[in-house]
Amino acid sequence: MNRCNVKNHGMSVTGVMSKRLIGTAAVVVATILLLWADRHPAHGQQRVLSATKPVHASCQRSGFRVVVDVGHTAEVPGADSARGVPEYTFNLRLADEIEQALVDAGFGKAVRLITATAPWQGLVERADRANKMHADLFISIHHDSVPDFLIETWDHEGQQHPFSDRFKGYAIFISNDNADRQGSLQFGGLLGKELQARGLRYTPHYTLPLMGKYRHALLDPAAGVYRYDQLIVLRNTEMPAVLLEAGSIVNRQEELELASSERRAAVSAAVAAAVQDFCAERNDQHVKRPSAPNTVAGPGHANPASLAR
Ligand SMILES: [Zn+2]
Repeated sequence: MNRCNVKNHGMSVTGVMSKRLIGTAAVVVATILLLWADRHPAHGQQRVLSATKPVHASCQRSGFRVVVDVGHTAEVPGADSARGVPEYTFNLRLADEIEQALVDAGFGKAVRLITATAPWQGLVERADRANKMHADLFISIHHDSVPDFLIETWDHEGQQHPFSDRFKGYAIFISNDNADRQGSLQFGGLLGKELQARGLRYTPHYTLPLMGKYRHALLDPAAGVYRYDQLIVLRNTEMPAVLLEAGSIVNRQEELELASSERRAAVSAAVAAAVQDFCAERNDQHVKRPSAPNTVAGPGHANPASLAR
């Protein structure tokens, strides 16, 4: 229609009559098109959507495989809590509930990953198994401690136990060496957002100079996502991967919270919601996005003692 207006500047009397005829014809054609669109609502809607923004693909939850890795093993169970409970016990209980929350949300291919193989070989095995399953997302579940130089001791029920009340809160780690570093950072951001929506806060202490070789770059200061390149389960996996420290079990108050069903329910719901968000966003991106470059730099200190996470 606009093209006609441009051509009709300075036209003659016969031109004006022709214009009226063309105008009448245009109204008839437009009316027919409107009536047709009204009887074919899907087509009419598609035309409107494509004129405003791309049509978003929906998340195929039943086909989206999430591997929930239970950190450590029964024989090598990780840190001891302030009351003497092994980290593995916390990891197993929380991972069970996360897997169930995912299945309940429609992610029927979610699986819990456990290995009895000792660290190093066991860590490589975890990543291999996730790769062979062609998982879409890998989440390693852990509970945090502090370096030895921050540990104090207290007497609990007649026994001495290590503790540190200095820090509390969750932390999320990704590796820049992961095959899908951008996806890992994206999921980490969504997970942090969902945890915070449920009243949880991340611990900022990994940025402190006193952490020395245990210091890590904070890649997402809003969500609490840190960089930890060397973790085997994050760098050997071929899909987006994060490691979640759900909280500090050497903090005497937070240990009680982490042992509660309310806290496990909040974390499980946050993971399920973040996976839903991620699955939908990934489908959108697969339609229209090339992968982003690997650009973020930071200290990324090696921490050989906890590579075994
Ligand atoms: Zn751990």
